[in-house]
Amino acid sequence: MERERILLSLATMGGAERHYIADAFDTGWVVPLGPNVDLFEKSLQEYLDTGHRVVALSSGTAAIHLALNQLGVTRGDDVVCQSFTFAASAFPIVYQCATPVFVDSEPDTWNMSPALLERAIVERKARTGRSPKAIIVVHLYGMPARMDEITAIAARHRIPIVEDAAEALGSEYGGRKCGTLGELGVLSFNGNKIITTSGGGALVCRTPEQALRTIFLATQARENRPYYHHESLGYNYRLSNISAGIGRGQMEVLPRLLARRREIHALYRTLFAGVRGIRVMENPAPGFDSNFWLTCITLEGDLPAGLNPESLRRHLEGAGIESRQLWKPLHLQPVFAHAPAFIDGTSEGLFARGLCLPSGAALTDDDITRVAHRIMELVK
Ligand SMILES: *Cc1c(COP(=O)(O)O)cnc(C)c1O
Repeated sequence: MERERILLSLATMGGAERHYIADAFDTGWVVPLGPNVDLFEKSLQEYLDTGHRVVALSSGTAAIHLALNQLGVTRGDDVVCQSFTFAASAFPIVYQCATPVFVDSEPDTWNMSPALLERAIVERKARTGRSPKAIIVVHLYGMPARMDEITAIAARHRIPIVEDAAEALGSEYGGRKCGTLGELGVLSFNGNKIITTSGGGALVCRTPEQALRTIFLATQARENRPYYHHESLGYNYRLSNISAGIGRGQMEVLPRLLARRREIHALYRTLFAGVRGIRVMENPAPGFDSNFWLTCITLEGDLPAGLNPESLRRHLEGAGIESRQLWKPLHLQPVFAHAPAFIDGTSEGLFARGLCLPSGAALTDDDITRVAHRIMELVK
């Protein structure tokens, strides 16, 4: 019998999603605002539990864009961004006609290196005469970045932090939820993230003023007049009330989805314990509590000829298992070829040795065991 293909990170529905979508139809709220949007935002706020205001948007990328817009990022500005991430972390810098300045990762968290961040700020300031306008820190694969060190550096240079927590809903750093640690926080509800709205995102705001400004910009920057009057450039970035209905249902099962991602990670760790040549990415120290959105491994030591993440990926593909190489660092991407970069080889090394394993909450222990055994066939 043909076995089901094992996917990297498939969305898992809780059950109530259909009900909330039907609500939207029944009440005529088939528009990019409405009760589902309000209640989805409220449940995210309660989950983050910090007095922050959450604004639901059409994507995580839109949230990053509006964050940079609000921080005044404009033509000629520098914005420092982690290089080891998905391109969507940095695209909005270019939407604002600013310059991305890429900073490499540190080996423990795979996220922004505080030492290289400091260097990037000092050297760019010396060169341009101005500090970068913002810093985009990413919690990659759900692992919190070294926020104490990064926040101290940012504060010393008076640069606001945009926290890209697109992959880190439910992750905690020092007992605080990722997404609430910067000046503005970004969440994503794309199909493969911790929860989905079939496509969507949110901006986590510290103040009611930031939230109002975000809603204003996301709804075409319409001024408060009886006719359409515009003094600033607007966007159509609000989340649909249909999508928000899915989000409401997903919030009801969020704790279960998070628990399962962490269980899957623990199971991989057990299965690979003592296997030479495979290292499972884990929390580097107390205070780091990843949601383990994706469990990632790196191939360690001298690799036998022909063994690399791509050959391993193809081997798994042949067995009906989807896996994916780690993010290709942005300083290596042709689209960012001319961006300044402060690099020490860490992310390039990870890209050359790392693989993301199937981690979706619907996977069974048998699925995970099958993945691990297929990997061990090749790596021994
Ligand atoms: C998914 C993702 C985004 C973008 O979110 P979308 O909702 O897909 O626009 C940004 N940054 C990171 C790190 C992501 O993984």
